[in-house]
Amino acid sequence: MSKRDYYDILGVDKGAGEKELKKAYRKLAMKYHPDRNKGDSNAEKKFKEASEAYEILSDPQKRQRYDQFGHAGMNGGGFGGGGASDFGNADFEDIFSRFSDIFGGDMFGGGGGDPFGGRSRRSRRRSGTGQPGSDMKVRVELTLEEIAEGVEKTLKVKRHKKCGSCNGTGAETESDFETCSTCNGMGEVRQVSKTMFGQFVNVQPCPECRGEGRIVKDKCNDCRGEGRIRAEEKVKMNIPAGVSEGNYITLRRQGNAGVRGGEPGDLIVLIEEQEHEHFERDGNDIYYDLNLSIPDAVLGTNVEVPTLKGKAKVKVEPGTQPGKLLRMKSRGIQGLNNSGRGDQFIKVHVYIPKDLSDEELKHIKALRGQDHFDPANAKSREKGFFSKIKDVFA
Ligand SMILES: [Zn+2]
Ligand SMILES: [Zn+2]
Repeated sequence: MSKRDYYDILGVDKGAGEKELKKAYRKLAMKYHPDRNKGDSNAEKKFKEASEAYEILSDPQKRQRYDQFGHAGMNGGGFGGGGASDFGNADFEDIFSRFSDIFGGDMFGGGGGDPFGGRSRRSRRRSGTGQPGSDMKVRVELTLEEIAEGVEKTLKVKRHKKCGSCNGTGAETESDFETCSTCNGMGEVRQVSKTMFGQFVNVQPCPECRGEGRIVKDKCNDCRGEGRIRAEEKVKMNIPAGVSEGNYITLRRQGNAGVRGGEPGDLIVLIEEQEHEHFERDGNDIYYDLNLSIPDAVLGTNVEVPTLKGKAKVKVEPGTQPGKLLRMKSRGIQGLNNSGRGDQFIKVHVYIPKDLSDEELKHIKALRGQDHFDPANAKSREKGFFSKIKDVFA
């Protein structure tokens, strides 16, 4: 199922600024707001679609990645598991709390802005869950062949994952929690200090329960109360064609699991490109050096050259000059975002031998001074020398 362009969804153009985006989103959000369209699944779809577009385009980093990679770059090329670009399964609550600057006002007249009271529900849910997991970086090395077509990779990732024995809670059972006595379950402590400028109240996360408001009395044996364990896991991801060294793809919520149910971090996959034994890459094009013998350059020949998909025959015309570029159309790398496929170029070199045998010398000497071997006699027919690129592959 192909996704609509985020800019189209919001009805703005590519250069749209922050204000314009917000305005466009606000308008759509009002129109398709679930409060005003109860039970209308089409409105719901539109609302989520617009929210997703706004989430991406309002974040400079994500927007840049989207501009560069399109939808493929947003979630690892169709990698499942939700996250930023999968609002289809998001609940409204998540959307409201994510864009609290938009829904937080009295736009819909709801107290606190959230028509479902989602914020308070959410914060209640949040108490009792621990610190978020950290992001992780992994490298993935790709061959040029893999980059040319895109590839599915299975990464081995050593990360924290949710403890299965306690379902991430860190406790044997629900009754093994007790309210933190240091903060009385508030999760934060206040320090009041009096200075000559007045009274200052300093609010900090409770050091005892680390802001969770409760502590585990009887800790789960497998994770010792952490709610997560270290494990090596396999993560499958699709890498779109056309990526390059230094690109990265963020897999949302695929990083380290949080402590006791805290939000998982992201998995950031850095792309590395292996050097190829035959080709040099320039954007979506690849270059191959072909070394011809003098007779082959003069007489023409058929040669076999490597391509990204096996070998191919190429015809070398008689009188082919060193430096000539032969083009094999569409034999390069598939560009990102369906931006077309590059070409393979063959750079012609002519090998000049040294240390000839007497017999060979005799032939070469015999050619010296021959009419057609004298560059002074080269006709204008070779004017196009470097500039002409010859297609050898239709
Ligand atoms: Zn556990
Ligand atoms: Zn506490």
